[in-house]
Amino acid sequence: MKTHAVYQVSILSALMQGIMGGVMTAQELLSHGDFGLGTFEGLGGELIILDGEAYRCTADGCVSPAAPSDQISFAQITFFDAFSPLHMTEKISSFEQLKQFLRQWTAEDPNIIYVVKGHTEDADVTVRSMEQQKRPYPTLEEAAHSQKEHRGSHVSGTLIGFLFPQFMDGVNISSWHIHFLSDDRTQGGHLLSLKSESLHLQMYPIYEHTLRLPEGTSFARLRCGKDHPDALKKIEG
Ligand SMILES: [Zn+2]
Repeated sequence: MKTHAVYQVSILSALMQGIMGGVMTAQELLSHGDFGLGTFEGLGGELIILDGEAYRCTADGCVSPAAPSDQISFAQITFFDAFSPLHMTEKISSFEQLKQFLRQWTAEDPNIIYVVKGHTEDADVTVRSMEQQKRPYPTLEEAAHSQKEHRGSHVSGTLIGFLFPQFMDGVNISSWHIHFLSDDRTQGGHLLSLKSESLHLQMYPIYEHTLRLPEGTSFARLRCGKDHPDALKKIEG
């Protein structure tokens, strides 16, 4: 039986504290999965991996294929199990309601990782993308001031999401982190709001996690446990 596993690049605490240099290329990242999300060196847009292709959603609202040599600073990726059970939601009128809907599967065991793939048609979505930052890098909270939001109506596309357990806060985040990519690959980013008549969802638990840590002195200087959980959720949750 195939084991479900997630491969992660860097930790959220590092991003929070401005450690956003490249850890590996998009090409190397894609050897660890075909479905995922993250960001680039210096937060240069939101990263989406769908069907084995990597995309960059920039602050100007554009989506383009990531180059194999593009540097990734933070990501999580898995080989998505296309045979996992399919569920259908009723009308979803907010992101909060979607999280509530997903809770029926996650509440029973909050101490493991979950992945979700959703597809929506004719939805209203709001996504955000971070602006490319320059060295010396700011904290994620400072960088978030210049994030750009983009709204789309009657959009069809895919939701790519992960939920990590609370004891991994800092390594990742214990609330749903979801990116969105439209079917025509023209709109996408970090999902902030969603209204949809219905969603097709596939989600399942993951029990295996591999972590690739950044190399170098800036990561060596990181002092963990200093992130405010609320700040973390405000920016990434
Ligand atoms: Zn994101």
